[in-house]
Amino acid sequence: MNISQSQQLFEHAKKVIPGGVNSPVRAFRAVGGNPLFIKSAKGAYLYDEDDNAYLELINSWGPMVLGHAHEIIQKAVADAAQNSLSFGAPTRKEVEMAELIISIVPTLEKVRMVNSGTEATMSAIRLARGYTGRDKMIKFEGCYHGHGDSFLIAAGSGAATMGIPDSPGVTQGIANDTLTAPFNDLEAVERLVTENKQNVAAIIVEPVAGNMGLVLPKTGFLEGLRQICTREGIVLIFDEVMTGFRLAKGGVQERFNVQADLITMGKIIGGGMPVGAYGGRREIMDFVSPAGPVYQAGTLSGNPVAMSAGLAMLHYLNEHPEVYTRLEEIGNKIVAGMQSNMQKLGVNYTINHVGSMFTIFFTDKPVYDFESAKQSDLQLFAKYFQAMLKRGVYLAPSQFESLFVSTALTNDHIDTIIKANYESLEEIL
Ligand code: PLP
Repeated sequence: MNISQSQQLFEHAKKVIPGGVNSPVRAFRAVGGNPLFIKSAKGAYLYDEDDNAYLELINSWGPMVLGHAHEIIQKAVADAAQNSLSFGAPTRKEVEMAELIISIVPTLEKVRMVNSGTEATMSAIRLARGYTGRDKMIKFEGCYHGHGDSFLIAAGSGAATMGIPDSPGVTQGIANDTLTAPFNDLEAVERLVTENKQNVAAIIVEPVAGNMGLVLPKTGFLEGLRQICTREGIVLIFDEVMTGFRLAKGGVQERFNVQADLITMGKIIGGGMPVGAYGGRREIMDFVSPAGPVYQAGTLSGNPVAMSAGLAMLHYLNEHPEVYTRLEEIGNKIVAGMQSNMQKLGVNYTINHVGSMFTIFFTDKPVYDFESAKQSDLQLFAKYFQAMLKRGVYLAPSQFESLFVSTALTNDHIDTIIKANYESLEEIL
């Protein structure tokens, strides 16, 4: 496979961009080799600068749920761009977007648009603190909520991939207000709440975690968090940046039937454009400026082109429930095929899977939190990644990430992926 254009671009990039990339995981540090520079994408395929084609299972880390360059979204963006790209003033589309999201996502009564998942989680935490008058929050080891200072404590994929647990530049004062517990460990949460009585503003959780690889909540975990938060007057925040509109139209709240006080969203609601949102009960959201005292703003928030892309995506999902049936089918087929391959080849593996998201961990022990995820054979993962890439299948370049399928995958594509999985494992074992 010729990747000379990507190699040259990476050499240039390293001179002018820190590490050659604009987001660390893209540098392929965890898997070695040269990152591919992508020129275009259509449907289920990515094309790099050397015109190699890859069937892909990342889909921009989630948002391209219908595959790349879907015509309804392309058209919405092109049409919106005719009317200028930004006004910095209210628009009809923002009202339509808020009404649509509220009609789909359980428990939302008001929603505020921002520009990324990071902005959504930072704003939600500030709001929870302003609303409760308390300082501390609880997050879970291995959960990633964007790169806001107070979240860069035991932050999962990004930091784990780079081998640094916390980031220099986050002050001790900020870190002191972030309490951490192992995912799926209700007793640890109870202990933290007791030790910090009346001072925990929020518990934030990826209700299905995707940033230590995919890790599912054990039965009763989310319900337990709900009970603790209700009892203690703590704001429960589900970070559904990855799972929203993917694991079900109404996200994890709908799929697992547990309700949060605030929801953070991103990715799919922008249809691929830079968008995030946070929302929840009216009583809490009315603390946000200018309705209330908690300040949060954004020049490009509710941007008309981004709203148009997101509206096209959400209307499509709302009107085509078969998308979700097909996503389940695709996820089930790929996982079943890979499972059968790995059993035949005697691989030590655990697959965590729900709907259109899954992770293969190279360990035969169950993976239910960050510590158990870290028991995986990372060297084997790196070899597997390269072997799949050589066969034209592009995976997330880290063990500590989930894979995401799109409806652009046909049954033939699925067969190709399963065959590549068999051949790759045969080669590296
Ligand atoms: N929350 C979760 C669960 C995420 O997976 C991510 C990013 O992957 C974020 C927040 C941050 O979103 P963004 O990268 O758009 O800032």
